[in-house]
Amino acid sequence: MGKKTVIIGGGPAGYVSALRAAQLGMDVVLIEQRDIGGTCLNRGCIPTKALLQSASVLRVFQNAADFGLVAEDPYLDYSRVNQRKEQIITKLRTGIGGLLKASGVRVVVGSASFVSDREIKVKAKDGSEILFSADSFIIATGSSPIRPPIPGIEEDRVMTSDEVFSLEDVPEKLLIIGGGVIGVEMATIYASFGAEVVIVEMIDRLLPTFDRDISEEVCRQLKRMGVELHLSCKVERFVWQNGRYTAIVEDKAGKQIVIPAEKTLMSIGRKANVKNLGLENAGVKYDRVIPVDDHMRTNISHIYAAGDVNGGIQLAHVASHEGILAAENAVGLDVSDDFRCVPSCVYTFPEIASTGMTEQEAVQKGIQIKIGRFPFSANSKAVIENDAHGFVKVIADASDDRLLGVHIIGPHATALICEAVLAIEKNMSLSDLTKTIHAHPTVGEAVQEAALSANHLAIHTLN
Ligand code: FAD
Repeated sequence: MGKKTVIIGGGPAGYVSALRAAQLGMDVVLIEQRDIGGTCLNRGCIPTKALLQSASVLRVFQNAADFGLVAEDPYLDYSRVNQRKEQIITKLRTGIGGLLKASGVRVVVGSASFVSDREIKVKAKDGSEILFSADSFIIATGSSPIRPPIPGIEEDRVMTSDEVFSLEDVPEKLLIIGGGVIGVEMATIYASFGAEVVIVEMIDRLLPTFDRDISEEVCRQLKRMGVELHLSCKVERFVWQNGRYTAIVEDKAGKQIVIPAEKTLMSIGRKANVKNLGLENAGVKYDRVIPVDDHMRTNISHIYAAGDVNGGIQLAHVASHEGILAAENAVGLDVSDDFRCVPSCVYTFPEIASTGMTEQEAVQKGIQIKIGRFPFSANSKAVIENDAHGFVKVIADASDDRLLGVHIIGPHATALICEAVLAIEKNMSLSDLTKTIHAHPTVGEAVQEAALSANHLAIHTLN
């Protein structure tokens, strides 16, 4: 047997690092206290996208007449939508379980904490305990939703993303606090299913980490779906008013807005799971997160931390990438990454995807930039799909045409971004993109046209 590694947490960071460590010949133990797949598979990426797919099919039926089809009275059976979501989760979880087993990874169910820097204790639900020692450890305990202590908050009325997937019916009204990725995806789902959705966001725009043009377009699209937006507003307290549970919201001028809050989703961010891990016993330094170097190493050289717990970008593909780095370094390789070019996707209607620098970041860094832009209304495939909303925005360094960022809101944006990630990762220029033949008719042509338009050379729009 090779070197032994113990991994705590079976989410995208943990189970992927377990599989890589096993491929590299390590003796691997993976400890998970709940379900393999972690937040992403059980309470995150997969259930949201399963619900969104049902919402997307419903939209197709609702718009069938636009395609010359008759689909009378399409309606939603939410219990079957939920059933489908659960079947998808189970199928994927079983698949990962099978892979781990076939790879020789020992999966232990229980909650792990360090006894020393070489030993870990696992407590099972029945109270029994097992000790494991190892040459290295990978902490991949993920993150949990933040629940701020807003006065009047009642736990059974104010859900987080951990509870929202247990809803048995579509709420008539849904208040969403927080207009980040989770907030806008949930708004898209429930507005499509017929709920009256209100978003309250403290900052002056939705998706504040994205390019400002994307934020503005997503506002327009959500409003088109009937979502009510209150930007630069803060929930001050919850109160019972005229027999109704209500949120008292204040805008930046101090004006109060009263919003029904019987069903509220709190999506204001997530905190790293660093508590009850016995990190002190192992000498691992931490504060709100476990800091790591570019090799995913903590201050203790044989203990690594990957995924949401280390305070990096909270995305499943980043977690998995970090899990692989941690496993490879644990086996004795020397690998690192600068995470310069990470794709971020938001599954709204239409989809959003972004990578590299935003226009605002480039300007802040004092870089002279060129901007190219192409609307999907001028893309034939988007028109055929009846989904010709949004645009591709390309940002390049004006001095040498090197690509710095690509931001897309439009059909299949989350698939289109792969080309941009590769191009930026490989330091390509606008002409590398524009000289590559793109198939016709495809939505991919919009990326090529946006790159062309940065030099006023787009074909299917006036420059
Ligand atoms: P987690 O997935 O949180 O896994 C950590 C695991 O560790 C958990 O299973 C937990 O039970 C276990 N654990 C914790 N402590 C212990 C312990 N002491 N002992 C044993 N086990 C322990 N990201 C995307 O890239 N795309 C998306 O579309 C996307 N959608 C999302 C939608 C929602 C609603 C949410 C909430 C998140 C979404 N994310 C998405 C983010 C993504 O889910 C996380 O970034 C990802 O799950 C992080 O992976 P992780 O392995 O670090 O942690």
